[in-house]
Amino acid sequence: MGTEIDVKVLRTLHRILRQKTDLNGRIKRGPATIEVAKRAEAAFNTTLLETLELLKTTRMNAERKQMQLQEREARIEELKNKRNSCESNREYQLLNDQIAADEQANSVQSDEILELLVKVDDIQARAIVAEEQLEKGKLETAKVKNTVTKQLASLQADLDAVNANLQSSESKLPFDVKPEYERLVSALGEDALAPIADNSCGHCYTTITTQLLTELMMKRITYCKTCGSLLYLPEGAAV
Ligand SMILES: [Zn+2]
Repeated sequence: MGTEIDVKVLRTLHRILRQKTDLNGRIKRGPATIEVAKRAEAAFNTTLLETLELLKTTRMNAERKQMQLQEREARIEELKNKRNSCESNREYQLLNDQIAADEQANSVQSDEILELLVKVDDIQARAIVAEEQLEKGKLETAKVKNTVTKQLASLQADLDAVNANLQSSESKLPFDVKPEYERLVSALGEDALAPIADNSCGHCYTTITTQLLTELMMKRITYCKTCGSLLYLPEGAAV
C-alpha cells in the first residue's frame, strides 16, 4: 500500500510552483529588457560618432581641395606675368598651354569642391538626426531602467509571498514523499508535478496505465513511469 495524499494539496502545490516559475522568469527578463535598451543606445552612439567622423574627413577634404585651388590660382597669376614678359613665341605658347591646363584643372576642382560642400551639408543633417536619436535612446534606457526597477520590487514581493505559500503547502506533504518531491523539484522545477489530462501525463503526454489511474483514484502517491512527475487528478477530471 502506498501513502495516501489529499489531491488538493498536490493541485495547490503545482499552482504555486507554476507561479514561482512565472515570477522567476519575469524577474530574470528585467535585466534583459534593460540590456536591449542599452544596446540600442550604444548603436545610436556608434552611428553618431561615425557620422561626425565622416563629417570631419569630408570637411578636411573640401578644405584641402580649396587650398590646392588657391595655390593653382596663384600659379596661374605667376604664369600670366611671365607670359607678359616673355621673349619668344615658343615660350609664349608654352606658357599659354600651361595656363590653359591649370585653368581647366581648377574648373574641375571647383566642381569637386562644390560636390563636397553639398555632401558636408547632407552629413551635417544626418549628424543632427543621429544626435536626436541618441538623446531618445538615452531617455528610453532611463525609462526602461526605472520601470524594470519598480517592477522588480513588486515581483520580488510577490515571489516572497509565493515562497511562503509554497513552504506551507510543502509541509502538508507526507513525510516519506518529501525526499522524492524535493529531488523532482530540483530536477524538473514546476514539472515535478503533472496533472492527468486525457488519461495522459500532463508533462510528457505518455498515456497512463489503468493500474496507475486506479491508484490515483485511491489517493495514492503515483509517479509517471516515463518522466517521473508526481501525478494528480485535476479538478473536475473525468477518468
Ligand atoms: Zn510523464
